Amino acid sequence: MMPPVVTILGGGISGLSAAYYLARLAPQIHIRLLEATDHVGGWIKSEKVNDKVLFEAGPRTLRPKGTGGAILLDMLKDLHLDQHIVSVPKKHPSAQHRYIEYKGQINQLPSGLSDLLFNSPPIMDSVMGAIMKEPFQPCPNHVTDESLYDFIQRRFNSQVALNLIGALAHGVYAGDCKQLSVQSTFPLLAACEQKYGSVVKGMMRGGVSLDTTKELALAAQCEARYPIWQHEMQNASVIGLQPGLAALPLALRRFLMDQPNVDLLTRQPVTLLESSSSSSSSLITTQSGEKYESHHVISALPSHILASILPPSSSLPHLTHNPRVDVAVVNLAYKKDDANTQLDGFGFLTPHRDTGSRVPGVLGVIFDSNSMGIQDKDMVRFTAMIGGSDWDLAFGNLKEEKEVATQALALAQQAMSTCLGVDASPTYHQAHVLRQCLPQYLVGHSKRMQELHLALQQRMCLSVTGASYLGVSVPDCVKHSRLLVEDLLEIGALGNQSSVVTGLEKTMISPW
Ligand SMILES: Cc1cc2nc3c(=O)[nH]c(=O)nc-3n(C[C@H](O)[C@H](O)[C@H](O)COP(=O)(O)OP(=O)(O)OC[C@H]3O[C@@H](n4cnc5c(N)ncnc54)[C@H](O)[C@@H]3O)c2cc1C
Repeated sequence: MMPPVVTILGGGISGLSAAYYLARLAPQIHIRLLEATDHVGGWIKSEKVNDKVLFEAGPRTLRPKGTGGAILLDMLKDLHLDQHIVSVPKKHPSAQHRYIEYKGQINQLPSGLSDLLFNSPPIMDSVMGAIMKEPFQPCPNHVTDESLYDFIQRRFNSQVALNLIGALAHGVYAGDCKQLSVQSTFPLLAACEQKYGSVVKGMMRGGVSLDTTKELALAAQCEARYPIWQHEMQNASVIGLQPGLAALPLALRRFLMDQPNVDLLTRQPVTLLESSSSSSSSLITTQSGEKYESHHVISALPSHILASILPPSSSLPHLTHNPRVDVAVVNLAYKKDDANTQLDGFGFLTPHRDTGSRVPGVLGVIFDSNSMGIQDKDMVRFTAMIGGSDWDLAFGNLKEEKEVATQALALAQQAMSTCLGVDASPTYHQAHVLRQCLPQYLVGHSKRMQELHLALQQRMCLSVTGASYLGVSVPDCVKHSRLLVEDLLEIGALGNQSSVVTGLEKTMISPW
């Protein structure tokens, strides 16, 4: 019997991870990965400017904690990238010091209770009172999803919602806390209310585990392989890779190219995914007219792109419901003496636009040299993230990519001057405009994912993974691709018409 052929669509971190785990766990299977561009890694892009300064245009730091962290660390170890890991200890200033721009001033968030009581900046006015009252706030009779803003405003107050949670939504999703779903973006908050009747009580009792038994078992397996190392790494606040995060997709690519059962094909934008005439397999067409038959397809594409390649007769629900935001990423490098900010934290975020930020449209500025603090001796690097849900504030009607990039650089420098007092021109800079880069999980996302799961169950040989569905972080993407592959193999769903794995099984056992 011919071994089944599995085709993975998209060579971002989700698609590469799916291919990697399939290649490791099922060497008998023929794996094909189709990527539209000429590089792999999707939004992960590290560039060295002048052979000197490292700029990350996309993600830069990874959370090593939790089930996603354990699985990601295991992958890094197996790819021999552990020697390149840079870890930031929890006691490091960049882990302790978090800043929010508030009314034109940088406010340092308290890093402990005594700080909160005796050293609170203006942004924390009313926070202490709201924390004290929160355990006594009533809980709703029915569990329904709501926006992050509505949830926090109900449990704490509107200042906490706009200033603190608004800033967090900027930092993680480049999004608007008034639009994002609390259940899907910060599920721990909603779970604490549900289990303990209070976020504060829930946090004081160590939170709520949102991981499935399978996720916990997999993480435990990873931890057991290198227990001391895993423990040490998971204790870091964040980790990164010394040559830049792109070292991860490059290592995955190298591994995959070395496998005799893997075809990794770049410059192959997929334009159509349909059932083949025998209907026990799928037929994939690319822009150049190539056709590939496949027993099983794993889509690691952003969901709106998956929607665009399905024929109308086999469309799936909700794939285009969530918008995706555009973000302009501006990397700046200054000579050390030109940018002495006196701040030694991770960076600063801006609150929700309703508080009237002094740098409208700027979501935050990361202090790259501090947050990792190793790559360069005489330069200081920063990255400004601009746009997202505040795109119109930053760029108005500008359409041309060049105009947007120019405006982004101007806004980044304005933020450096207004908030950090850095007026010098950067020695090196670059601006990337990332279109539709971050999905916004709108209110009701988890319910819609359940419905998508049920619809996919009728499709048999299609599974999904990637940032569109169950988490946007790199560790989440890696974890969900691994879980998908393990489930497909365990249940024997590859090339088999009688069992189905969609990749969204978790939605059916979520706490909601
Ligand atoms: C600016 C920014 C900063 C971030 N910072 C962090 C961070 O610090 N830490 C963190 O954990 N996460 C961070 N994230 C989130 C994380 O980087 C992404 O969510 C994650 O990389 C998404 O990976 P993915 O593989 O699911 O999707 P993508 O990276 O979008 O990959 C999809 C792939 O599919 C390909 N493709 C598209 N259309 C087709 C087609 N028709 N045919 C074939 N291939 C196609 C694309 O070219 C791409 O390679 C950040 C994201 C952004 C944008």
